[in-house]
Amino acid sequence: MSTTRQIMVVGASVAAAAFIGQLRADGYDGSVVVVERDPDMPYDRPPLSKEFLTASEARPEAPWWTGGCDIVRGVAERVDPANRALTVRKSSGQIDELMADHLVVATGSDPVRLPGQPDGVMSLRTAADARAVRENARPGRRAVVLGAGTVGTELASSLSASGTDVALVDLADRPLDRFFAGHLGDEAAEWIRSGGVQLHLSTRVGEIHRRSTGWVIETDGPTLTEADLVVCAVGTRPALAWLDGLDLDTRDGVACDASGAALTNGGDIVPGLHAIGDAARWTGAEYRREDWTSAQLQGRHLARRLSGLTPLVNPSAERPYFWSRQFGRRIQVLGKPVREATLVTHVQDPEEAAAFYTLEHDGDTVAWISINRPREFALALRGAVAGSRKVT
Ligand SMILES: Cc1cc2nc3c(=O)[nH]c(=O)nc-3n(C[C@H](O)[C@H](O)[C@H](O)COP(=O)(O)OP(=O)(O)OC[C@H]3O[C@@H](n4cnc5c(N)ncnc54)[C@H](O)[C@@H]3O)c2cc1C
Repeated sequence: MSTTRQIMVVGASVAAAAFIGQLRADGYDGSVVVVERDPDMPYDRPPLSKEFLTASEARPEAPWWTGGCDIVRGVAERVDPANRALTVRKSSGQIDELMADHLVVATGSDPVRLPGQPDGVMSLRTAADARAVRENARPGRRAVVLGAGTVGTELASSLSASGTDVALVDLADRPLDRFFAGHLGDEAAEWIRSGGVQLHLSTRVGEIHRRSTGWVIETDGPTLTEADLVVCAVGTRPALAWLDGLDLDTRDGVACDASGAALTNGGDIVPGLHAIGDAARWTGAEYRREDWTSAQLQGRHLARRLSGLTPLVNPSAERPYFWSRQFGRRIQVLGKPVREATLVTHVQDPEEAAAFYTLEHDGDTVAWISINRPREFALALRGAVAGSRKVT
């Protein structure tokens, strides 16, 4: 990349940080400009549903942000790939056109809203969202959380720990249904209920409206009333509206080749355009990765490719890793849980709320699940990584 002098990244989060950190470590001394719309960024997102909700700082720290770039505060609105130009509406209102040899899409995801979701129903994606939720986290308050995925269950756990009265609603018949691919549903329901949360499963949310006494959430089961806050945590989708109208395959994230080069609808590489993190779907990974670790790996991999250096690891060949903390449990999952797999219990220690499982499918271990068993998990991780890692 000796001729590249200008790199632009949209999104100042963990994927961007890993990308820029690797570029600089490998000796790139050209310009890097990062465009970011959130005035609080950079900060770390995983704490937002966990310890941050019971803390007092304005935003979580971002120890992985090492700088090495100029940040332009504003919203990326349009890209002209042929001229390698990006239109940015700066926070001041001024509209600028920025040029670069390479543009990296690192815009992550936005929360999904329910059809007809009224204003005032909260989401949890940014530090501002978390501060708004935190203001209501105290005894005597009543919260309804919609969606019992990782963010919804972590939020229910943190709110409940702060003394808030919490109801958690999901259409699925078990919590963490996607996270564990249908396994451990009874166990998760048990630890959520023991944590003092009212759990409403197989429950479809209908109309949501506000009365003088608080929010009313109609469902096909009970009607939930007098809620001080309602938080919708039903999922996310890649933040790509600003790329609308381009000949880019953005059906579920920006489709990329195995090193992060963006692809057209016809499968051709778009010169100078790349995508990493939650916003990207790389060839070779079976699905779009939406976790912190993959975002980092993709950022580093793309940097190595642009520098013309051998990649350190191939992110698409790595087993995905995700963690959660909730209801006194540290949960770690390596691999991809699948519904057809058989759950094998290796450790079960109810007194310590600890367990260690694997998911076995077609003669292979497809996932390792640890609950408060970090030592077993670290050993499994070492073995699994040694078995799967290939540098391409
Ligand atoms: C509450 C919560 C808890 C989580 N917990 C975990 C966890 O425990 N473990 C785990 O592995 N993962 C967790 N995740 C997921 C993890 O945080 C994401 O996978 C990771 O942040 C993705 O990083 P990224 O760099 O791709 O994008 P993001 O972190 O989403 O950042 C993208 C940035 O792009 C900016 N942006 C978007 N559009 C524009 C635009 N048009 N112009 C300018 N800027 C723009 C956004 O403001 C944002 O700052 C959690 C996520 C949330 C929300």
